[in-house]
Amino acid sequence: MGYIGFHASISGGVHNAIDEAIQKKAEAIQIFTANQRMWSVKDIPDKDVKLFFEKRKKSGLKSIVSHDSYLINLASGDKTILEKSRKAFKDEIKRSIILKLDAVIFHPGSFTGTTFEVGIKNIIESLNTLIMDIPEDGPFLLLETTAGSGNTIGGKFEELAEIIKGVKRKEKIGVCFDTAHTFEAGYDLVNNYEKVFSDFDKIIGLEKLKAMHINDSKTEYASKADRHEHIGKGEIGKDVFKKLMKDKRFAKIPMIIETPKVGEWDEKNIRLLKKMREG
Ligand SMILES: [Zn+2]
Ligand SMILES: [Zn+2]
Repeated sequence: MGYIGFHASISGGVHNAIDEAIQKKAEAIQIFTANQRMWSVKDIPDKDVKLFFEKRKKSGLKSIVSHDSYLINLASGDKTILEKSRKAFKDEIKRSIILKLDAVIFHPGSFTGTTFEVGIKNIIESLNTLIMDIPEDGPFLLLETTAGSGNTIGGKFEELAEIIKGVKRKEKIGVCFDTAHTFEAGYDLVNNYEKVFSDFDKIIGLEKLKAMHINDSKTEYASKADRHEHIGKGEIGKDVFKKLMKDKRFAKIPMIIETPKVGEWDEKNIRLLKKMREG
């Protein structure tokens, strides 16, 4: 179930993402609200915001979410990086509020230059300084599950639960479940589909699961290595995605593919997922 979509490009203006969504027959999209390789970016021009709303209204899209810049590390032990990350994340939230997006999906962070405990503390502090300014109808902040390699935080449900526990405004914080990352981190979706989600429910709570990244994995189970693959072509395989597409618990959340961007593969993957949902 869920609203099936993909990561759309904002090249030439944020409104262009909606044209691409219509063309690819998506029900939801994820976007970068700005160049994700730059620390500081200009505000979105008013005329682009206006076009975005006009096109969105006509598009019938059920959900639009943003993904934060890959530069941002809210767990960093380096003071300068941490400050820059907090500023960039604040700007990301601001742009997402302006565009009336449903959520900002972000990577918890990596405890480079410090300990795991300080990393977690840094994330919680970062969130608590920013989350209070989000209006009631503003976006959720969604921690993404990660493959858990190296110093990366978020490879275990317990780590995400610990962050959520420390956040002051619980109604605005949630999780984006990435199928590839979670499988790579050591949650066996292939053999223990039900157990993975019952563990998630026990540790975090399924009501916190507000978006999914639907990716197959090029790398094997528990590899801790993050490589996305087309739906059904990787180590996770078609059966898991069929179950997900039929799972009524996830009927009203965006399900975004982040599969390799080659040829017409976005269209193919979207068609395949819709077929699984109907079949
Ligand atoms: Zn991500
Ligand atoms: Zn990934």
